[in-house]
Amino acid sequence: NVPGSSIGVDALPIRESLRGKSAYGAPQLTVPVQLNTNENPHPPTQALVDDVAESVREAARELHRYPDRDAVALRTDLAAYLAGQTSVPVTVDNVWAANGSNEILQQLLQAFGGPGRSAMGFVPSYSMHPIIADGTQTDWLPIFRRADFALDVDAAVEAIRARRPDVVFVTSPNNPTGHSVGIAELRRVLDAAPGVVIVDEAYAEFSDAPSALTLIDEYPSKIVVSRTMSKAFAFAGGRLGYLAAAPAFIEALLLVRLPYHLSVVTQAAARAALRHANETLGSVHALATERVRVSKALEDTGFRVIPSDANFILFGEFTDSAHAWQAYLDRGVLIRDVGIPGYLRATVGLASENDAFIVASDAIAATEL
Ligand code: PMP
Repeated sequence: NVPGSSIGVDALPIRESLRGKSAYGAPQLTVPVQLNTNENPHPPTQALVDDVAESVREAARELHRYPDRDAVALRTDLAAYLAGQTSVPVTVDNVWAANGSNEILQQLLQAFGGPGRSAMGFVPSYSMHPIIADGTQTDWLPIFRRADFALDVDAAVEAIRARRPDVVFVTSPNNPTGHSVGIAELRRVLDAAPGVVIVDEAYAEFSDAPSALTLIDEYPSKIVVSRTMSKAFAFAGGRLGYLAAAPAFIEALLLVRLPYHLSVVTQAAARAALRHANETLGSVHALATERVRVSKALEDTGFRVIPSDANFILFGEFTDSAHAWQAYLDRGVLIRDVGIPGYLRATVGLASENDAFIVASDAIAATEL
């Protein structure tokens, strides 16, 4: 008998705009093959584990003090990583960090969205964008992608001109469809946008497409590039997201962030993980190779596979995707029903996990397609 369990959320004086909404819902189930949340399946190396442990041990001596509120050392390391990866000479003044890119996106909408303002996204895309819009009382303006799930740039530009959103989300590569958006297309979006354009590059390391970072100097008052250590960096449990933008954006975010949001432990662990970037990111190439193998196997079995630049694959077409999702789970394979009728999304895992997924797919194709 849980104290207080006699009432439900509807009995609370919750904001009207939140009534009846669903929470972010990737099921966290323990099954043999977990291919549902686009993590890097390669566990950290022993050297990285040891370095994180030693760094946290050192940092623990300072636990009685608040952390560096501005995470300067960590942001310096992140800037060096970004500059090396993209050849754009970003510095600590261009970079901000938070607990996962979800917190980055929330801080951005706290500063640039809010009551009376709107955010546009090209759907299907990352399901947290509208949820963060709701949480910050920003009107959500969804614009559909093409039937093949690629971004329809003409429709995007037209919608931006018509609706004049304060914030535009462009996800590249897009979750859950896997498409990257080219620099020329981004320029068209940026030219049309009256406000801020957030390019969500959570999966950038998996793609060969150039990063939107190259556009910061050209559109300093408009573009923010959001990144995360959750995917390619295999640091989802460490919770570290970051962004690159003109220094003025970081000044703006200082107005909304909670002081000391990044703990001493998080900062120390993230810096240690960054020191091992080369070995961790080595797995990205292996995952891209596996993505090609899995895509081909699915196609050979008769599935329609959406071409992906990321570490996941959207595929179908199922007669009933919810039923098909359960059929995978019954075979010990957890993938993701992202709410697109006829389609499911599978994260690319270790070769053995992918083999199990392919075996399940062969069986399921016979009854579910
Ligand atoms: N953006 C996109 C496109 C994502 O897919 C995800 C994770 N699923 C995130 C942001 C958030 O990741 P995190 O908060 O772990 O950085």
